[in-house]
Amino acid sequence: MEPSLKTTRLVMTVVEIRDETDVCKTYRFVSALNQDIFPYLPGQDVKLYFDTPLKKNDFRLYSIATPPTRKGYMELTIKSEQGQFAPYFLSQAKVGDQYVIEGPYGRFLSKPLKMIENKELDTLVFLASSSGIVPFRCFIEYAIDTGLDVDIWLFYVNRTRKDLIYRQLLPALLEEYPKLRLLLNFTREHEIAKTELYESVCNVKDELKDRVDFLLGRRLEFSDIASRVEKWKDAWYGICGGAKFIAGDRQLGQDGMMQKIEKGGVGRSRIEIDSYGTN
Ligand SMILES: Cc1cc2nc3c(=O)[nH]c(=O)nc-3n(C[C@H](O)[C@H](O)[C@H](O)COP(=O)(O)OP(=O)(O)OC[C@H]3O[C@@H](n4cnc5c(N)ncnc54)[C@H](O)[C@@H]3O)c2cc1C
Repeated sequence: MEPSLKTTRLVMTVVEIRDETDVCKTYRFVSALNQDIFPYLPGQDVKLYFDTPLKKNDFRLYSIATPPTRKGYMELTIKSEQGQFAPYFLSQAKVGDQYVIEGPYGRFLSKPLKMIENKELDTLVFLASSSGIVPFRCFIEYAIDTGLDVDIWLFYVNRTRKDLIYRQLLPALLEEYPKLRLLLNFTREHEIAKTELYESVCNVKDELKDRVDFLLGRRLEFSDIASRVEKWKDAWYGICGGAKFIAGDRQLGQDGMMQKIEKGGVGRSRIEIDSYGTN
């Protein structure tokens, strides 16, 4: 299926709210008027409208967190960046509230999906920072539901353990999708025993532990990817998160993931980005 160009507005009711971190929650929405949710592909986004104290009918874009295969509801995972929208939504939205959601937007991950379906691609490398995990969660659940046959490497970067989104969900994804491998990178954590890391951030059964790895105290580098992903040259790369994670910081002379993997030898045509903000 091609990503849809036609957008639809739905009035949706919040039916469940889950805390992910101190500044991030997942919201489950259902249609308030018993309408079908518009067709979409994993990786696509919606606009969520909300009256903040600063602006009526303001909106922000959010990746759809749940795949279209899970019918009847849609989840969004919303993290505050101390800006002008999310902090108000996180503190005010409650179960039973109704909001306008409009979509779908974007085409992130639609190309590799097509390549996988056409058997032209067998390895995906997902690079996420913080709330950049959301479209990848959606894609992995889609892969589970549709029986996609692709190796997925998820490299997930956060500052500390308390910033980790989907702590409960990641072990379930590993269990349900046997071709998923996960590296959790905590850039500001140091010297924590592996047993404690498994217990605190990725409580998986013993037989799944060899599919989970940790990297502490420094940023993810291309060599961390190339040393793990055997077919790194032929893989497709999706990068999602804030602009600094993706494109680095020119003033500080720091490369983002995009430059790191390009310098490592990955062709630009195999890299796709979804940038969440200017920070
Ligand atoms: C296509 C797209 C999909 C998105 N999907 C999600 C999602 O699934 N979940 C989610 O929590 N956010 C997502 N965002 C970001 C979201 O739109 C909001 O900006 C975010 O929730 C922060 O809201 P805020 O009100 O705190 O900050 P805003 O008022 O929106 O922005 C304040 C500052 O924070 C920066 N910023 C915003 N988001 C980030 C970020 N993730 N990392 C670093 N800096 C950032 C902005 O550039 C701005 O400088 C997405 C953005 C885009 C463009």
